[in-house]
Amino acid sequence: MKPEKLIVDGRRLDGRGPNDLRKIKIEAGVLHRADGSCYLEWGGNKVFAAVYGPREAVPRHTQNPLRAIVKARYNMAAFSVEDRKRPGPDRRSVEISKVISEALERVILTEQFPRASVDVCIEVLDAEAGTRCAGLTAAAVALVDAGIPMRDIPVACAAGKIDGQVVVDLGKEEDNYGQADLPIAIAPRTGEVLLMQMDGHLTVEEFNKAFDMAVESCGKVSEIQKKAILQRYHAVDEVIE
Ligand code: ADP
Repeated sequence: MKPEKLIVDGRRLDGRGPNDLRKIKIEAGVLHRADGSCYLEWGGNKVFAAVYGPREAVPRHTQNPLRAIVKARYNMAAFSVEDRKRPGPDRRSVEISKVISEALERVILTEQFPRASVDVCIEVLDAEAGTRCAGLTAAAVALVDAGIPMRDIPVACAAGKIDGQVVVDLGKEEDNYGQADLPIAIAPRTGEVLLMQMDGHLTVEEFNKAFDMAVESCGKVSEIQKKAILQRYHAVDEVIE
């Protein structure tokens, strides 16, 4: 049911201010059969990412003699949304898989692995808005965990507009009943934009504000990614001792 207001006395429905992110928890190296992996919770989203490769691309006609191809597959579990979702790919998941693949391809040093494929599986177990950003952020950590050489560690976050105000990281009701959603992914060191999509309408001024706020939030998420990666290496040290 549509809430009367999404912002009351400057606070959002879950108590956040306009610049506040939902709670994020990231753990690297959680799946032992994959070359690299990550588990991420972002608000009510729960996502696993697994990376395989670089390995020989199959079928062979997909091989590029000059560089590796990057194949990300985003999937939402049947039980990840309120009404059971029909299993398997649909238009939305094919689109998200494509934009995430293209974003990751921009930072992976694909030229080092001709004819190879880097495969990224993103499994959304619980979905509560912002899953493409959560999936890409988790995939980035899994790629680091797999030792895939990259120019930078990509990171994603959305901003949007609710009740006429620009805010970051839209929650479920904000996504459903808000006026715009602007998910972006960047390479944080250079600020290069790797993914940008938009639902709804923003004026140029609102767009610029939303974009700047999303970039700033990406910086915060990037710090959490880095901590998860450092923690992973710390754990390895302990095993060696
Ligand atoms: P994102 O998850 O990246 O924000 P969308 O804006 O397309 O992508 O979706 C917003 C939210 O809508 C999802 O996170 C999920 O909670 C919900 N959703 C998406 N697809 C379905 C579906 N088939 N059934 C029910 N809810 C869905």
